[in-house]
Amino acid sequence: MLQIKDVRKQYRTGDFVQRALDGVSLNLRDNEFVAILGPSGSGKTTLLNIIGGLDRYDSGDLVINGTSTKQYRDRDWDSYRNHTIGFVFQSYNLIPHQTILSNVELALTISGVPRAQRRQRARRALAQVGLGEHVHKKPNQLSGGQMQRVAIARALVNDPDIVLADEPTGALDSDTSVQIMELLKEVARDRLVVMVTHNPELAQQYATRIVNLRDGRIVDDSDPYEIDEAGREPAVHRTMGRASMSLGTAIALSFTNLRTKMARTVLTSFAGSIGIIGIALILSVSTGVNNYIASIQRDTMTAYPISIDARSWDFQSILEGAASAGDEAPAGHDTDDAIHADDSGFTQASTITSSIAQNNLTAFKRYLDDPDSEIHRYVGSNGIHYSYDVKYSVVSRDPDGTLVDADGVTFSGGSSSMASRMATNMGMMNETSDVTSMQMSMLTGEEDENAAPSAFGEIMPGDADDQLISPVVTDNYEVVAGAWPASRDEVVLVADRNNEIPLTVLYELGLLPATDYEDLIDRLDDGEQIEEQDITVDYGRIMDQTLYLIPACDQYVRGDDGRYSYVGDDPEQMAALAENAMRLRIVGVVRPTPDADTTDISGTVGYTHALTDYLIDYTADSAVVADQEASPDVNVLNGMTFSPADDATKAADARTYVAGLGVTQKAQLAASLMAQAGGAADGAAGAGTGYAGTGAAAAGAGAEEALAQQLDAYLATADDATFVAIYDDYVSTGDYDDNLDAFGVISRDAPSSIRIYCDSFEDKDGVSEAIEHYNDDASEEDRITYTDYVGALMSSVTTIVNVITYVLIAFVAVSLVVSSIMIGIITYISVLERTKEIGILRAMGASKRNVSSVFNAETGMIGLCSGLIGIGVTLLLLIPGNAVLHHFMGTDEVSGVLPVQGAVALVVLSVVLTLIGGIIPSRKAARQDPATALRTE
Ligand code: ADP
Ligand code: MG
Repeated sequence: MLQIKDVRKQYRTGDFVQRALDGVSLNLRDNEFVAILGPSGSGKTTLLNIIGGLDRYDSGDLVINGTSTKQYRDRDWDSYRNHTIGFVFQSYNLIPHQTILSNVELALTISGVPRAQRRQRARRALAQVGLGEHVHKKPNQLSGGQMQRVAIARALVNDPDIVLADEPTGALDSDTSVQIMELLKEVARDRLVVMVTHNPELAQQYATRIVNLRDGRIVDDSDPYEIDEAGREPAVHRTMGRASMSLGTAIALSFTNLRTKMARTVLTSFAGSIGIIGIALILSVSTGVNNYIASIQRDTMTAYPISIDARSWDFQSILEGAASAGDEAPAGHDTDDAIHADDSGFTQASTITSSIAQNNLTAFKRYLDDPDSEIHRYVGSNGIHYSYDVKYSVVSRDPDGTLVDADGVTFSGGSSSMASRMATNMGMMNETSDVTSMQMSMLTGEEDENAAPSAFGEIMPGDADDQLISPVVTDNYEVVAGAWPASRDEVVLVADRNNEIPLTVLYELGLLPATDYEDLIDRLDDGEQIEEQDITVDYGRIMDQTLYLIPACDQYVRGDDGRYSYVGDDPEQMAALAENAMRLRIVGVVRPTPDADTTDISGTVGYTHALTDYLIDYTADSAVVADQEASPDVNVLNGMTFSPADDATKAADARTYVAGLGVTQKAQLAASLMAQAGGAADGAAGAGTGYAGTGAAAAGAGAEEALAQQLDAYLATADDATFVAIYDDYVSTGDYDDNLDAFGVISRDAPSSIRIYCDSFEDKDGVSEAIEHYNDDASEEDRITYTDYVGALMSSVTTIVNVITYVLIAFVAVSLVVSSIMIGIITYISVLERTKEIGILRAMGASKRNVSSVFNAETGMIGLCSGLIGIGVTLLLLIPGNAVLHHFMGTDEVSGVLPVQGAVALVVLSVVLTLIGGIIPSRKAARQDPATALRTE
């Protein structure tokens, strides 16, 4: 039993107030067929919507089975519509993209009835209206009458107490109208049917009661139902419980919806994916560029490791000094008042000399060996490498059989010519990156005669113990003949990209006749212009050549008197030593690959770390080193005491010294003593020996002999004081440490240089910082000075790299914003488009939350599709994109790659953005007034 009590409803449009219902009171029996008649605009639809809970009354009451709806909440209304009411509309209001069956199922779907049961009940309802065969058709495949029957089946499927029909035959021809009326009459047999119609005949024919409405008032009722209000209990409020729809149902509903509108969904997703594609492409390119930058940084850092030498000079401060000594007048100068001295040359020179620093690498190596040191956080994949100044000579035989020294071609002294040194250095400078040691000797003027030949360099070893050659080297060099060295006695020749090796080195290795070289040097010294010539040496010849390696310690030969003498300058002795020396085999020729980033081998002849190791051990075990270590007070080279205690020892040592001199040396000593005596005559300066030889002016070969004899004669009678004076002026006892140094003794704790490899500029800065911290903690003399070549040369590159990165990030951010706005708009349009459908859902009893969750599920799925399409399209676009990139960059080192995490993040982002973009529209959808929504066409 339904009671409508003095219900009023008015619509306000601007200032105009339309009274749709003006105090309607009507009691309806549980089982009757009521027809409501009235002209258009008289409030029939409004009354029906209020009875069906689609619209709210302004005042009055609707009492359902004795329960007032005054305090109904949204969910009570939802439940009421879902369980108690079935709607049939003039325009059918079927959801066009769902099958007949799904349309009928809708009310059950909303109330969460399981699928199988849903199916069964829907089929039964369809059979009931005579449409059993058409279940899988879409609404637009049916005739009007059939559609209206589907609508009736849908209204009946939940077996409601009340069926409301708003002009159900309004759009049908008279034959079909009759069929529908028959059906409704059937329906009304066991329930209340309220039907609005224009057609009084049909009403007359089928309805059991006719109510006439005019201007929102009931003007006539054929069969009023009076209730004895006095005997009844007053209407009470009772909650109905809710129509429930799970999230799973919402997703399933939206999924079928999306599936039935496949093309549309794909298009929408594609539109949404454009933003994602943009971001993914930018992400790919920026990842590619970043990878490239990282690899460039790694390569740069391989070419320019942080290099710390035992003796180092601060390149940076010199650079800065040079930069500041520009044309600008120094501050505080009045440029017009007088001539000012330009002392920049001196200040620069002083900067250079004061920049030379000794580094205690032993202490620093201890720091590096400690695995807990801060610096290890920044050290890159190529690790830390220690170099040692092993000392050795290499000799060989040239094609004529002449013994050739790799450090100066022949033993005849031609090598000391300035021109040849320059030629050699120029050649080496083109070849090697390790110019520091050469620059050092140029700066300090110190020359170490026992040092290894400059053409020889150790090849960077790999990190693993058994890896003689680092992958960095094998990656950047190609073997043009032979192979890489595999043992300590194997070396490779390192050519440049044009397969060239400095001419001097070819001479020094005995690959070309030494006489040609001397010829060349002579011409150079004569100031002749030397033409380019094409000299070639074939690989076979190179690999046939034997090199003899003579460690420095072996070049000190023990004489009969038990003293060692240096034979490194004596060709015969060297030839004898070579006979028993270690033979180095040239096993291959390598050159940098065309795209090599770093040419790390610092020499033309590369040997392995194994040789360095061997030489260190060999020297430590050699006889001369053992003997010197056994007598730390006496110099094994001259038998003299290192630090004599008294004059007697000094005099004795001086005698020994003079006795050991040859004729020429004696003559020189005599000449020097005479000159000193001459100087002393002017004053008291100099201890002076009082020696004044005669006939010193005599020239010629005989003169030397005469001088020597005179000296001998003089010294034969000289006293100890004279010898002490000679001792002080001429005798050098040497130094224990210098001796060991000359023999080539090396402690593994004291590298000559340390190279620290980093993978990126950032890590390099980290290493610099770690060294700074080390310096802060270290004592004054243990502080490390080093040259940061990369820091000096690359700081602008780092800035550019950072700018590029920031620009890319900005691009990504902009496309993000654009993409989310676009997705929001698309969702909004989709909501507008489906207003009607929302009305239908609400009429079937879907709650606001149901509607918004259906929309959210749908936008979420569209977001997922957008994301997946975006990623897919990006991956496809990257194929031609990379080809274009490679073409324009001229290198295939920059490739756009979409990182997996990035792809996943973008899909998630797409879903999240679509959901956010869809929240406002789906809220709007949920809030939509169902009555208004249904009126929308
Ligand atoms: P009927 O179904 O009898 O033709 P309605 O119940 O649809 O009439 O409408 C009754 C009156 O209320 C009409 O004058 C109509 O213009 C007005 N009306 C209905 N719905 C609205 C609305 N949402 N906003 C403003 N006026 C409305
Ligand atoms: Mg109407």
